[in-house]
Amino acid sequence: MIIVMEEGANHAQITMVTEKLIECGFEVHRSIGERHIIIGAIGAKTVDPREYEILPGVRDVIRITAPYKLVSRHFNPEGTIIRIKDVEIGGTEVIVMAGPCSVESEEQIEAVAEHVARHGAKILRGGAFKPRTSPYSFQGLGEAGLKMLRRAADKYGLLVVSELMESSQIPMFLHYVDIIQVGARNMQNFSLLKDLGRIKAPILLKRGPAATFEETLLSAEYLLSGGNGEVIICERGIKTFETYTRNTLDISAIPVFKKLSHLPVVADPSHGTGRRDKVSPMARAALAAGADGLLIEVHNSPENALSDGAQSLYPEQFEQLMHQLSLIAPAINRQLGFPPFSQDVAAGVRQRQDQAVRR
Ligand code: PEP
Ligand code: MN
Repeated sequence: MIIVMEEGANHAQITMVTEKLIECGFEVHRSIGERHIIIGAIGAKTVDPREYEILPGVRDVIRITAPYKLVSRHFNPEGTIIRIKDVEIGGTEVIVMAGPCSVESEEQIEAVAEHVARHGAKILRGGAFKPRTSPYSFQGLGEAGLKMLRRAADKYGLLVVSELMESSQIPMFLHYVDIIQVGARNMQNFSLLKDLGRIKAPILLKRGPAATFEETLLSAEYLLSGGNGEVIICERGIKTFETYTRNTLDISAIPVFKKLSHLPVVADPSHGTGRRDKVSPMARAALAAGADGLLIEVHNSPENALSDGAQSLYPEQFEQLMHQLSLIAPAINRQLGFPPFSQDVAAGVRQRQDQAVRR
């Protein structure tokens, strides 16, 4: 149940509602919106909403029938904006997180960081602990990789997002990253979600490869109910019968998550397609569909990448994509800060794309 207070409801009125809910055995969460204070009551109890509707200062009482409560759009109708240093995720600006699949060396992460920062990315991505299907594949550089990622990001004024695999890594991640990524495979690792719910750090929660919208939102609910409200949902493609693409990027998930929840939503067309030639079209589509941000894999030498080379953009492709995104954003009342695009790069990208199609 959610109780929306009148605009200008006073402290005594808010306290009265809160105390009544606690007395009835509810757990109470407050959300302070631009105009209204919203009080979320979590608990199995059923009460007559009129008992609350008649209290002074109460504007509306809404019963939430969905199993997720705190992530529900009702709880924060204006939408959540996550502020990290000077970056706002969920505001009018579309935030691009870009970088290699894995951090491989100081030189590699530096080169990619410099390029993506110059072309408008705000957040540097890179895995240091990699969830690989095969135990024989490159598993990541571990803490050394996180150090390289942080150093490169700081040098070019970027924030850092990286994937954490287990609870024991939380203190290490709090030291190096600005956003902790929970990978698709860990979306329903409920003990990990409980531990991450207890900390104060933004979480990028990827949708599981076979998770429904409701299951995804319930995973986010674990984080919010634990007390961590800074959650970004990421659509990264789901398993379908199709084999041409690695996963099927579910573009419809973007407007659905935005409607059902107040949390910011980003899309990952790199894992969503698994093919470099399909990343830019799907990134453009995701932006047009209302994504608050994009997660894009970029590598300075994709042919030599230790993971996900086939889906990593060449640097010039990233520059061209950012230019295209900056043209789409105003059509849907969004912004994407991007410096002017050079003709030389356009020619280079066309050449690379021709080669990529032939490959
Ligand atoms: C990644 O971002 O590199 C990754 C492994 O993503 P996912 O969990 O979506 O597969
Ligand atoms: Mn990857």
